[in-house]
Amino acid sequence: MQFNFIANAPQTSTSGQTLAVLDPSDGQIYDQIQRSQAADVDEAVAAARQCFNTVWGKFSAAERGRLLMRLSARISDSVDELTAIEQRDCGKPTKQARADALALARYFEFYAGACDKLHGDTIPYLEGYSVLTWREPHGVTGHIIPWNYPMQIFGRSVGGALAAGNACVVKPAEDACLSLLRVAQLAAEVGFPAGAINIVTGYGHEVGDALARHPGIDHISFTGSPSVGTLIQQVAAQRHCPVTLELGGKSPQIVFADADLDAAVPAILNAIVQNAGQTCSAGSRLLVAQAIYEPLLARLGQAFEQLRVGPASMDLDLGPLIRQSQQQRVWDFLSDAQVANIPMVAQGRVVDEAPQAGFYQAPTLLRDVPPQHRLAQEEVFGPVLCAMAFDDEDHAVALANATRFGLVAGVWTRDGARQFRMARRIRSGQVFINNYGAGGGVELPFGGVKSSGYGREKGFEALHGFTTLKTVAIRHG
Ligand code: NAD
Repeated sequence: MQFNFIANAPQTSTSGQTLAVLDPSDGQIYDQIQRSQAADVDEAVAAARQCFNTVWGKFSAAERGRLLMRLSARISDSVDELTAIEQRDCGKPTKQARADALALARYFEFYAGACDKLHGDTIPYLEGYSVLTWREPHGVTGHIIPWNYPMQIFGRSVGGALAAGNACVVKPAEDACLSLLRVAQLAAEVGFPAGAINIVTGYGHEVGDALARHPGIDHISFTGSPSVGTLIQQVAAQRHCPVTLELGGKSPQIVFADADLDAAVPAILNAIVQNAGQTCSAGSRLLVAQAIYEPLLARLGQAFEQLRVGPASMDLDLGPLIRQSQQQRVWDFLSDAQVANIPMVAQGRVVDEAPQAGFYQAPTLLRDVPPQHRLAQEEVFGPVLCAMAFDDEDHAVALANATRFGLVAGVWTRDGARQFRMARRIRSGQVFINNYGAGGGVELPFGGVKSSGYGREKGFEALHGFTTLKTVAIRHG
Protein backbone atom coordinates (compact mmCIF):
# COMPACT_ATOMS: atom_id res chain seq x y z
CA MET A 1 0.00 0.00 0.00
CA GLN A 2 1.28 3.48 -0.93
CA PHE A 3 0.50 6.64 1.04
CA ASN A 4 0.46 10.33 0.35
CA PHE A 5 3.59 12.11 1.53
CA ILE A 6 2.73 15.27 3.44
CA ALA A 7 5.05 17.14 5.83
CA ASN A 8 7.62 14.33 5.56
CA ALA A 9 5.16 11.67 6.75
CA PRO A 10 3.07 9.00 5.04
CA GLN A 11 -0.64 9.88 5.15
CA THR A 12 -3.78 7.99 4.22
CA SER A 13 -6.35 9.94 2.23
CA THR A 14 -9.30 11.43 4.05
CA SER A 15 -11.64 9.48 1.76
CA GLY A 16 -10.22 6.16 2.96
CA GLN A 17 -10.34 5.04 -0.68
CA THR A 18 -7.53 3.69 -2.82
CA LEU A 19 -6.81 3.15 -6.52
CA ALA A 20 -5.28 0.02 -7.99
CA VAL A 21 -1.75 0.13 -9.45
CA LEU A 22 -1.37 -2.05 -12.56
CA ASP A 23 1.78 -3.45 -14.12
CA PRO A 24 1.43 -2.55 -17.83
CA SER A 25 3.60 -5.53 -18.78
CA ASP A 26 1.02 -8.07 -17.56
CA GLY A 27 -2.06 -5.96 -16.79
CA GLN A 28 -2.14 -7.26 -13.18
CA ILE A 29 -2.79 -5.25 -10.02
CA TYR A 30 0.16 -5.27 -7.63
CA ASP A 31 -0.25 -2.25 -5.34
CA GLN A 32 -2.66 0.50 -4.24
CA ILE A 33 -2.30 4.29 -4.06
CA GLN A 34 -4.43 6.74 -2.09
CA ARG A 35 -7.46 8.18 -3.87
CA SER A 36 -7.17 11.63 -2.34
CA GLN A 37 -9.68 14.46 -2.27
CA ALA A 38 -9.73 18.23 -1.80
CA ALA A 39 -9.26 17.84 1.99
CA ASP A 40 -5.92 16.09 1.39
CA VAL A 41 -4.84 18.91 -0.91
CA ASP A 42 -5.78 21.37 1.89
CA GLU A 43 -3.49 19.51 4.25
CA ALA A 44 -0.59 19.44 1.78
CA VAL A 45 -0.93 23.12 0.93
CA ALA A 46 -1.03 24.02 4.63
CA ALA A 47 2.15 21.98 5.23
CA ALA A 48 3.88 23.66 2.28
CA ARG A 49 2.80 27.14 3.44
CA GLN A 50 4.02 26.50 6.98
CA CYS A 51 7.36 25.28 5.62
CA PHE A 52 7.72 28.21 3.25
CA ASN A 53 6.89 30.78 5.95
CA THR A 54 8.99 29.35 8.75
CA VAL A 55 11.88 27.30 7.33
CA TRP A 56 12.31 26.95 3.58
CA GLY A 57 11.73 30.60 2.83
CA LYS A 58 14.44 31.49 5.34
CA PHE A 59 17.13 29.26 3.84
CA SER A 60 19.83 31.08 1.92
CA ALA A 61 20.19 30.22 -1.74
CA ALA A 62 23.46 28.43 -0.99
CA GLU A 63 21.78 26.31 1.71
CA ARG A 64 19.03 25.32 -0.71
CA GLY A 65 21.67 24.42 -3.26
CA ARG A 66 23.50 22.14 -0.83
CA LEU A 67 20.30 20.30 0.01
CA LEU A 68 19.38 19.85 -3.65
CA MET A 69 22.87 18.50 -4.27
CA ARG A 70 22.47 16.02 -1.40
CA LEU A 71 19.22 14.82 -2.95
CA SER A 72 20.90 14.46 -6.33
CA ALA A 73 23.60 12.29 -4.76
CA ARG A 74 21.00 10.22 -2.93
CA ILE A 75 19.05 9.67 -6.14
CA SER A 76 22.28 8.60 -7.87
CA ASP A 77 22.87 6.07 -5.09
CA SER A 78 19.29 4.82 -5.52
CA VAL A 79 19.24 4.52 -9.31
CA ASP A 80 18.78 0.74 -9.27
CA GLU A 81 15.87 0.94 -6.84
CA LEU A 82 14.16 3.80 -8.72
CA THR A 83 14.70 2.00 -12.04
CA ALA A 84 12.99 -1.12 -10.71
CA ILE A 85 10.05 0.89 -9.32
CA GLU A 86 9.53 2.84 -12.54
CA GLN A 87 9.94 -0.17 -14.77
CA ARG A 88 7.09 -2.02 -13.09
CA ASP A 89 4.83 1.01 -12.60
CA CYS A 90 5.18 2.43 -16.13
CA GLY A 91 6.25 -0.58 -18.23
CA LYS A 92 9.51 1.08 -19.24
CA PRO A 93 12.34 -1.10 -20.55
CA THR A 94 15.24 -1.09 -18.08
CA LYS A 95 17.41 1.26 -20.14
CA GLN A 96 14.59 3.85 -20.33
CA ALA A 97 13.68 3.65 -16.64
CA ARG A 98 17.36 3.95 -15.76
CA ALA A 99 17.83 6.93 -18.08
CA ASP A 100 14.89 8.63 -16.32
CA ALA A 101 16.39 8.03 -12.87
CA LEU A 102 19.78 9.36 -14.01
CA ALA A 103 18.10 12.40 -15.57
CA LEU A 104 16.33 13.07 -12.26
CA ALA A 105 19.68 13.06 -10.45
CA ARG A 106 21.10 15.37 -13.11
CA TYR A 107 18.16 17.83 -12.78
CA PHE A 108 18.76 18.14 -9.05
CA GLU A 109 22.50 18.55 -9.68
CA PHE A 110 21.86 21.27 -12.26
CA TYR A 111 19.34 23.15 -10.11
CA ALA A 112 21.53 22.76 -7.01
CA GLY A 113 24.23 24.70 -8.82
CA ALA A 114 21.74 27.27 -10.10
CA CYS A 115 20.21 28.30 -6.74
CA ASP A 116 22.73 31.03 -5.93
CA LYS A 117 23.27 32.19 -9.54
CA LEU A 118 19.82 33.74 -9.96
CA HIS A 119 20.50 37.47 -9.84
CA GLY A 120 18.40 40.56 -10.27
CA ASP A 121 19.40 43.75 -12.11
CA THR A 122 20.21 47.31 -11.25
CA ILE A 123 18.53 49.74 -13.60
CA PRO A 124 19.78 53.26 -14.46
CA TYR A 125 16.99 55.74 -13.60
CA LEU A 126 16.47 59.34 -12.52
CA GLU A 127 19.19 61.32 -10.77
CA GLY A 128 18.98 60.59 -7.03
CA TYR A 129 17.36 57.16 -7.45
CA SER A 130 18.63 53.59 -7.32
CA VAL A 131 16.50 50.87 -8.83
CA LEU A 132 16.99 47.14 -8.49
CA THR A 133 15.03 43.97 -9.17
CA TRP A 134 14.70 40.88 -7.01
CA ARG A 135 13.62 37.48 -8.21
CA GLU A 136 11.40 36.16 -5.42
CA PRO A 137 9.78 32.73 -5.13
CA HIS A 138 6.03 32.57 -5.73
CA GLY A 139 5.58 30.81 -2.38
CA VAL A 140 3.71 27.50 -2.68
CA THR A 141 3.76 25.98 -6.16
CA GLY A 142 1.49 23.21 -7.46
CA HIS A 143 2.89 20.62 -9.89
CA ILE A 144 0.61 18.42 -11.99
CA ILE A 145 2.63 15.70 -13.68
CA PRO A 146 1.78 13.26 -16.51
CA TRP A 147 2.51 9.54 -16.51
CA ASN A 148 4.96 9.32 -19.39
CA TYR A 149 8.14 10.58 -17.68
CA PRO A 150 7.30 11.03 -13.99
CA MET A 151 10.87 11.27 -12.73
CA GLN A 152 12.14 13.54 -15.50
CA ILE A 153 9.22 15.92 -15.23
CA PHE A 154 9.42 15.99 -11.44
CA GLY A 155 13.14 16.81 -11.80
CA ARG A 156 12.67 19.72 -14.14
CA SER A 157 9.54 21.12 -12.52
CA VAL A 158 9.97 20.51 -8.79
CA GLY A 159 13.77 20.82 -9.04
CA GLY A 160 13.45 24.28 -10.61
CA ALA A 161 10.72 25.41 -8.20
CA LEU A 162 12.69 24.33 -5.11
CA ALA A 163 15.85 25.98 -6.42
CA ALA A 164 13.93 29.24 -6.76
CA GLY A 165 12.82 28.92 -3.13
CA ASN A 166 9.25 27.63 -3.43
CA ALA A 167 7.65 24.86 -1.35
CA CYS A 168 5.88 22.32 -3.55
CA VAL A 169 2.67 20.29 -3.68
CA VAL A 170 2.87 17.59 -6.34
CA LYS A 171 0.06 15.64 -7.97
CA PRO A 172 1.50 12.77 -10.02
CA ALA A 173 -0.58 11.02 -12.68
CA GLU A 174 -2.79 8.26 -11.27
CA ASP A 175 -0.95 5.72 -13.46
CA ALA A 176 2.57 6.66 -12.33
CA CYS A 177 3.06 7.68 -8.70
CA LEU A 178 5.40 5.20 -7.11
CA SER A 179 8.81 6.56 -8.08
CA LEU A 180 7.85 10.08 -6.97
CA LEU A 181 6.58 8.86 -3.60
CA ARG A 182 9.97 7.22 -3.09
CA VAL A 183 11.88 10.33 -4.20
CA ALA A 184 9.96 12.43 -1.67
CA GLN A 185 11.03 9.97 1.05
CA LEU A 186 14.64 10.26 -0.11
CA ALA A 187 14.35 14.05 0.11
CA ALA A 188 13.16 13.79 3.72
CA GLU A 189 16.03 11.41 4.49
CA VAL A 190 18.67 13.86 3.22
CA GLY A 191 17.21 16.70 5.29
CA PHE A 192 14.54 18.53 3.31
CA PRO A 193 12.34 20.23 5.90
CA ALA A 194 8.82 18.89 6.46
CA GLY A 195 6.46 20.49 3.92
CA ALA A 196 9.04 21.44 1.26
CA ILE A 197 7.93 18.54 -0.98
CA ASN A 198 4.43 17.08 -0.60
CA ILE A 199 2.87 14.41 -2.82
CA VAL A 200 -0.88 13.83 -3.09
CA THR A 201 -2.06 10.99 -5.32
CA GLY A 202 -5.41 10.44 -7.00
CA TYR A 203 -7.47 11.32 -10.03
CA GLY A 204 -6.95 14.48 -12.06
CA HIS A 205 -10.56 15.62 -11.83
CA GLU A 206 -10.39 15.25 -8.04
CA VAL A 207 -6.88 16.03 -6.75
CA GLY A 208 -5.60 17.92 -9.81
CA ASP A 209 -8.69 20.07 -9.97
CA ALA A 210 -8.58 20.78 -6.23
CA LEU A 211 -4.91 21.78 -6.53
CA ALA A 212 -5.54 24.10 -9.48
CA ARG A 213 -8.46 25.76 -7.60
CA HIS A 214 -6.72 26.06 -4.25
CA PRO A 215 -6.35 29.68 -3.09
CA GLY A 216 -3.14 28.72 -1.26
CA ILE A 217 -1.37 27.75 -4.49
CA ASP A 218 0.61 30.68 -5.88
CA HIS A 219 1.73 29.15 -9.18
CA ILE A 220 0.83 26.02 -11.14
CA SER A 221 3.18 24.02 -13.33
CA PHE A 222 1.13 21.73 -15.55
CA THR A 223 2.57 19.17 -17.94
CA GLY A 224 0.02 17.13 -19.85
CA SER A 225 -2.57 17.21 -22.59
CA PRO A 226 -3.77 20.41 -24.28
CA SER A 227 -7.39 19.78 -23.23
CA VAL A 228 -6.57 19.51 -19.52
CA GLY A 229 -4.17 22.45 -19.93
CA THR A 230 -7.15 24.54 -21.04
CA LEU A 231 -9.15 23.50 -17.97
CA ILE A 232 -6.26 24.36 -15.65
CA GLN A 233 -5.88 27.79 -17.20
CA GLN A 234 -9.61 28.48 -16.87
CA VAL A 235 -9.66 27.46 -13.22
CA ALA A 236 -6.47 29.37 -12.39
CA ALA A 237 -7.71 32.46 -14.22
CA GLN A 238 -10.52 32.83 -11.64
CA ARG A 239 -7.94 33.96 -9.11
CA HIS A 240 -5.25 35.19 -11.53
CA CYS A 241 -2.85 32.43 -10.57
CA PRO A 242 0.08 32.14 -13.00
CA VAL A 243 0.37 28.86 -14.91
CA THR A 244 3.27 27.22 -16.72
CA LEU A 245 1.91 24.98 -19.49
CA GLU A 246 3.94 22.21 -21.10
CA LEU A 247 1.57 20.41 -23.47
CA GLY A 248 1.58 18.01 -26.40
CA GLY A 249 3.28 17.89 -29.78
CA LYS A 250 3.17 16.50 -33.30
CA SER A 251 6.77 17.13 -34.06
CA PRO A 252 8.21 16.89 -37.59
CA GLN A 253 11.48 15.26 -38.58
CA ILE A 254 12.41 17.00 -41.85
CA VAL A 255 14.92 15.19 -44.04
CA PHE A 256 16.45 16.94 -47.05
CA ALA A 257 18.10 15.07 -49.91
CA ASP A 258 21.61 16.10 -48.78
CA ALA A 259 21.14 14.72 -45.24
CA ASP A 260 23.59 12.34 -43.60
CA LEU A 261 21.20 9.39 -43.47
CA ASP A 262 23.56 7.26 -41.38
CA ALA A 263 23.13 9.82 -38.62
CA ALA A 264 19.45 10.56 -39.32
CA VAL A 265 17.98 7.04 -39.46
CA PRO A 266 18.82 5.93 -35.89
CA ALA A 267 17.75 9.30 -34.49
CA ILE A 268 14.45 9.25 -36.40
CA LEU A 269 13.80 5.72 -35.19
CA ASN A 270 14.64 6.50 -31.57
CA ALA A 271 12.47 9.63 -31.57
CA ILE A 272 9.33 7.58 -32.22
CA VAL A 273 10.26 4.35 -30.44
CA GLN A 274 11.54 5.84 -27.18
CA ASN A 275 9.09 5.16 -24.34
CA ALA A 276 6.88 3.35 -26.91
CA GLY A 277 6.12 6.68 -28.60
CA GLN A 278 4.55 8.08 -25.41
CA THR A 279 6.72 11.18 -25.52
CA CYS A 280 5.58 14.79 -25.90
CA SER A 281 8.54 15.47 -28.19
CA ALA A 282 8.15 12.25 -30.22
CA GLY A 283 9.20 12.88 -33.83
CA SER A 284 5.90 11.51 -35.09
CA ARG A 285 5.77 13.14 -38.55
CA LEU A 286 8.48 12.27 -41.06
CA LEU A 287 8.74 14.83 -43.87
CA VAL A 288 11.09 13.64 -46.60
CA ALA A 289 12.41 15.29 -49.78
CA GLN A 290 10.78 13.61 -52.78
CA ALA A 291 14.20 12.63 -54.20
CA ILE A 292 15.02 10.34 -51.25
CA TYR A 293 11.49 9.37 -50.15
CA GLU A 294 11.59 5.79 -51.49
CA PRO A 295 15.14 4.88 -50.42
CA LEU A 296 14.67 6.39 -46.95
CA LEU A 297 11.37 4.59 -46.41
CA ALA A 298 12.95 1.33 -47.55
CA ARG A 299 15.75 1.79 -45.05
CA LEU A 300 13.45 2.78 -42.20
CA GLY A 301 11.07 -0.06 -43.07
CA GLN A 302 13.89 -2.56 -42.55
CA ALA A 303 14.75 -0.94 -39.24
CA PHE A 304 11.10 -1.06 -38.08
CA GLU A 305 10.91 -4.77 -38.89
CA GLN A 306 13.83 -5.42 -36.54
CA LEU A 307 12.13 -3.73 -33.56
CA ARG A 308 10.94 -5.95 -30.73
CA VAL A 309 8.28 -5.18 -28.11
CA GLY A 310 7.92 -7.04 -24.84
CA PRO A 311 7.74 -6.94 -21.04
CA ALA A 312 9.70 -4.11 -19.46
CA SER A 313 12.03 -6.56 -17.71
CA MET A 314 13.15 -8.02 -21.08
CA ASP A 315 14.61 -4.57 -21.89
CA LEU A 316 13.75 -4.72 -25.59
CA ASP A 317 13.32 -1.79 -27.99
CA LEU A 318 9.84 -1.04 -26.66
CA GLY A 319 7.83 -1.95 -23.57
CA PRO A 320 4.04 -1.92 -23.29
CA LEU A 321 1.87 1.19 -23.42
CA ILE A 322 0.81 2.56 -20.06
CA ARG A 323 -2.77 1.24 -19.93
CA GLN A 324 -5.54 -0.39 -21.90
CA SER A 325 -7.23 2.88 -22.91
CA GLN A 326 -3.95 4.11 -24.40
CA GLN A 327 -3.64 0.88 -26.36
CA GLN A 328 -7.21 1.33 -27.59
CA ARG A 329 -6.40 4.90 -28.63
CA VAL A 330 -3.52 3.68 -30.82
CA TRP A 331 -5.69 0.92 -32.31
CA ASP A 332 -8.34 3.51 -33.19
CA PHE A 333 -5.78 5.60 -35.07
CA LEU A 334 -4.49 2.55 -36.93
CA SER A 335 -7.97 1.42 -37.90
CA ASP A 336 -8.63 4.96 -39.22
CA ALA A 337 -5.49 4.55 -41.33
CA GLN A 338 -6.91 1.36 -42.80
CA VAL A 339 -10.24 3.00 -43.57
CA ALA A 340 -8.40 5.85 -45.34
CA ASN A 341 -6.21 3.36 -47.28
CA ILE A 342 -3.03 4.83 -45.82
CA PRO A 343 -0.28 2.33 -46.75
CA MET A 344 1.71 0.60 -44.01
CA VAL A 345 5.43 0.29 -44.82
CA ALA A 346 6.46 -1.95 -41.94
CA GLN A 347 5.78 -3.04 -38.39
CA GLY A 348 7.92 -4.37 -35.57
CA ARG A 349 6.90 -7.45 -33.61
CA VAL A 350 5.53 -8.19 -30.15
CA VAL A 351 7.55 -11.11 -28.76
CA ASP A 352 5.87 -14.41 -27.83
CA GLU A 353 6.86 -13.99 -24.17
CA ALA A 354 4.62 -10.88 -23.84
CA PRO A 355 1.64 -11.73 -21.59
CA GLN A 356 -1.73 -11.47 -23.38
CA ALA A 357 -3.06 -9.10 -20.71
CA GLY A 358 -0.19 -6.60 -21.21
CA PHE A 359 -0.74 -3.41 -23.24
CA TYR A 360 1.53 -4.04 -26.22
CA GLN A 361 1.62 -2.30 -29.57
CA ALA A 362 3.97 -3.06 -32.46
CA PRO A 363 5.74 0.06 -33.82
CA THR A 364 4.25 1.00 -37.18
CA LEU A 365 5.54 3.03 -40.13
CA LEU A 366 2.84 4.57 -42.37
CA ARG A 367 3.47 6.40 -45.65
CA ASP A 368 1.71 8.96 -47.86
CA VAL A 369 -0.30 10.19 -44.89
CA PRO A 370 -2.52 13.06 -46.10
CA PRO A 371 -1.41 16.20 -44.22
CA GLN A 372 -4.97 16.95 -43.07
CA HIS A 373 -5.70 13.41 -41.84
CA ARG A 374 -5.96 13.11 -38.05
CA LEU A 375 -2.92 10.82 -38.12
CA ALA A 376 -0.89 13.79 -39.36
CA GLN A 377 -2.60 16.28 -37.08
CA GLU A 378 -3.22 14.69 -33.69
CA GLU A 379 -0.99 13.16 -31.05
CA VAL A 380 -1.23 9.36 -31.28
CA PHE A 381 1.01 8.99 -28.22
CA GLY A 382 2.14 5.57 -29.38
CA PRO A 383 4.83 4.16 -31.70
CA VAL A 384 3.30 5.27 -35.01
CA LEU A 385 5.42 7.22 -37.50
CA CYS A 386 3.61 9.01 -40.35
CA ALA A 387 5.70 9.72 -43.46
CA MET A 388 4.93 12.17 -46.25
CA ALA A 389 6.99 13.66 -49.10
CA PHE A 390 7.76 17.34 -49.79
CA ASP A 391 8.78 19.04 -53.03
CA ASP A 392 11.02 21.89 -51.84
CA GLU A 393 11.99 23.94 -48.80
CA ASP A 394 8.82 26.08 -48.84
CA HIS A 395 6.69 22.97 -48.97
CA ALA A 396 8.66 21.43 -46.08
CA VAL A 397 8.11 24.55 -43.95
CA ALA A 398 4.40 24.65 -44.81
CA LEU A 399 3.95 20.99 -43.81
CA ALA A 400 6.07 21.39 -40.67
CA ASN A 401 3.91 24.29 -39.46
CA ALA A 402 0.59 22.79 -40.54
CA THR A 403 -0.59 21.44 -37.17
CA ARG A 404 -1.93 23.17 -34.09
CA PHE A 405 1.22 22.11 -32.21
CA GLY A 406 4.70 23.63 -32.08
CA LEU A 407 6.93 21.77 -29.66
CA VAL A 408 10.04 20.37 -31.41
CA ALA A 409 11.34 20.01 -34.95
CA GLY A 410 14.25 17.99 -36.30
CA VAL A 411 16.00 19.19 -39.48
CA TRP A 412 18.46 16.99 -41.37
CA THR A 413 20.58 18.78 -43.99
CA ARG A 414 24.23 19.54 -44.64
CA ASP A 415 23.41 22.97 -46.13
CA GLY A 416 24.40 25.54 -43.49
CA ALA A 417 22.30 28.41 -44.84
CA ARG A 418 19.26 26.15 -45.06
CA GLN A 419 19.82 25.05 -41.46
CA PHE A 420 19.42 28.66 -40.29
CA ARG A 421 16.51 29.41 -42.63
CA MET A 422 14.63 26.37 -41.38
CA ALA A 423 15.34 27.17 -37.74
CA ARG A 424 13.91 30.66 -38.30
CA ARG A 425 10.84 29.59 -40.27
CA ILE A 426 9.62 26.69 -38.15
CA ARG A 427 7.17 27.66 -35.42
CA SER A 428 8.22 25.58 -32.43
CA GLY A 429 9.88 25.91 -29.06
CA GLN A 430 13.03 24.09 -30.17
CA VAL A 431 14.68 23.10 -33.42
CA PHE A 432 17.31 20.37 -33.49
CA ILE A 433 19.58 20.37 -36.54
CA ASN A 434 21.33 17.13 -37.45
CA ASN A 435 20.41 15.72 -34.04
CA TYR A 436 17.22 15.16 -32.08
CA GLY A 437 17.55 15.97 -28.41
CA ALA A 438 20.70 14.00 -27.75
CA GLY A 439 21.98 13.97 -24.19
CA GLY A 440 18.67 14.68 -22.43
CA GLY A 441 19.08 18.45 -22.54
CA VAL A 442 18.66 19.18 -18.82
CA GLU A 443 20.48 22.48 -19.44
CA LEU A 444 18.36 23.48 -22.44
CA PRO A 445 15.17 25.54 -22.03
CA PHE A 446 12.22 23.49 -23.24
CA GLY A 447 8.64 24.32 -24.14
CA GLY A 448 6.29 25.06 -26.99
CA VAL A 449 4.19 27.52 -28.93
CA LYS A 450 0.55 27.26 -30.05
CA SER A 451 -1.25 24.25 -28.51
CA SER A 452 2.05 22.91 -27.19
CA GLY A 453 1.81 25.48 -24.39
CA TYR A 454 4.01 28.40 -23.51
CA GLY A 455 5.98 27.27 -20.45
CA ARG A 456 9.74 27.10 -20.46
CA GLU A 457 11.04 24.49 -18.06
CA LYS A 458 14.50 22.90 -17.96
CA GLY A 459 17.68 24.94 -18.04
CA PHE A 460 18.24 28.19 -16.19
CA GLU A 461 15.28 29.77 -17.97
CA ALA A 462 12.87 27.71 -15.81
CA LEU A 463 13.89 29.74 -12.77
CA HIS A 464 12.30 32.81 -14.31
CA GLY A 465 8.98 31.00 -14.43
CA PHE A 466 9.28 29.85 -10.83
CA THR A 467 9.92 33.36 -9.53
CA THR A 468 8.19 36.69 -9.64
CA LEU A 469 10.13 39.90 -10.28
CA LYS A 470 9.94 42.69 -7.74
CA THR A 471 11.21 46.16 -8.66
CA VAL A 472 12.53 48.29 -5.83
CA ALA A 473 13.03 52.03 -6.50
CA ILE A 474 14.84 54.02 -3.82
CA ARG A 475 14.99 57.82 -3.83
CA HIS A 476 18.04 58.82 -1.86
CA GLY A 477 18.70 62.30 -3.21
P1 NAD B 1 -3.35 14.44 -18.99
O1 NAD B 1 -3.57 15.86 -19.36
O2 NAD B 1 -4.47 13.50 -19.13
O3 NAD B 1 -2.90 14.33 -17.47
C1 NAD B 1 -1.82 15.09 -16.97
C2 NAD B 1 -2.03 15.30 -15.48
O4 NAD B 1 -3.19 16.11 -15.30
C3 NAD B 1 -2.29 14.00 -14.70
O5 NAD B 1 -1.66 14.09 -13.44
C4 NAD B 1 -3.80 14.01 -14.55
O6 NAD B 1 -4.26 13.28 -13.43
C5 NAD B 1 -4.07 15.49 -14.38
N1 NAD B 1 -5.45 15.89 -14.70
C6 NAD B 1 -6.35 15.27 -15.50
N2 NAD B 1 -7.52 15.94 -15.50
C7 NAD B 1 -7.36 17.01 -14.70
C8 NAD B 1 -8.21 18.07 -14.29
N3 NAD B 1 -9.48 18.19 -14.72
N4 NAD B 1 -7.70 19.03 -13.48
C9 NAD B 1 -6.42 18.95 -13.04
N5 NAD B 1 -5.58 17.95 -13.36
C10 NAD B 1 -6.04 16.99 -14.19
O7 NAD B 1 -2.07 13.98 -19.80
P2 NAD B 1 -1.38 12.55 -19.80
O8 NAD B 1 -2.20 11.63 -20.61
O9 NAD B 1 -1.01 12.15 -18.41
O10 NAD B 1 0.00 12.89 -20.53
C11 NAD B 1 0.13 12.92 -21.89
C12 NAD B 1 0.13 14.34 -22.40
O11 NAD B 1 1.14 15.09 -21.76
C13 NAD B 1 0.45 14.40 -23.88
O12 NAD B 1 -0.36 15.36 -24.50
C14 NAD B 1 1.92 14.82 -23.87
O13 NAD B 1 2.36 15.39 -25.07
C15 NAD B 1 1.94 15.77 -22.74
N6 NAD B 1 3.31 15.97 -22.25
C16 NAD B 1 3.94 17.15 -22.51
C17 NAD B 1 5.25 17.36 -22.10
C18 NAD B 1 5.97 18.66 -22.39
O14 NAD B 1 7.02 18.88 -21.84
N7 NAD B 1 5.46 19.54 -23.24
C19 NAD B 1 5.93 16.34 -21.43
C20 NAD B 1 5.27 15.15 -21.19
C21 NAD B 1 3.95 14.98 -21.59
